[in-house]
Amino acid sequence: GWRSRAAYKLIELNDKFHFLKKRMKVVDLGAAPGGWSQVAVYHKASKVVGIDLLQVKPVMGADIFQGDFTEPHNLEVLLGKLEGKADLVMSDMAPNTTGHAATDHIRIIDLTEQALDFAIKILNLNGVFIAKVFQGGSEKLMLNKLKRSFKIVKHAKPPASRKESKELYVIATGFKGNNSEDKS
Ligand code: SAM
Repeated sequence: GWRSRAAYKLIELNDKFHFLKKRMKVVDLGAAPGGWSQVAVYHKASKVVGIDLLQVKPVMGADIFQGDFTEPHNLEVLLGKLEGKADLVMSDMAPNTTGHAATDHIRIIDLTEQALDFAIKILNLNGVFIAKVFQGGSEKLMLNKLKRSFKIVKHAKPPASRKESKELYVIATGFKGNNSEDKS
């Protein structure tokens, strides 16, 4: 069985947008307890590499390690394990909330932007970026960057995501390549 309720969110997003393909190399950011990685393995990804602050019980077919994604050293570890570029970067990361709304808001945006910058660095042409964002959290700057770097950018709230939660997901497909960052 799937290890997380979050697994259903990814399955529902994929039912709608069909981004999980065979032989993909996948990066799973904020992977604990491993649900999304399980779903990627189930869809016959050729490689699944993940990271989380928390320790994750091994997922067969995936390589998940414990660490903070925002530490540059851990980006190197991810890249080393990946052995080449990725076809899908997915981030379900959410920082622990402080209870201070404005602070939480900034921290969430910051984390997702770092995930996007990482994706732009390591995706293959036509690659896909999926990330958890929050209503009112998809800031203009990030949306502009997404639209510059990907052919199609959509937002969706999967049914498995609680109605009262402000989370939604961005699904960006058709990565245009690393040089798109230089153009405006
Ligand atoms: N997609 C996962 C699944 O299906 O099992 C659930 C992910 S959970 C909603 C969010 C995760 O993001 C948490 O386990 C948390 O530890 C992780 N996280 C938050 N900030 C992080 C960071 N800076 N580096 C790595 N992981 C982080």
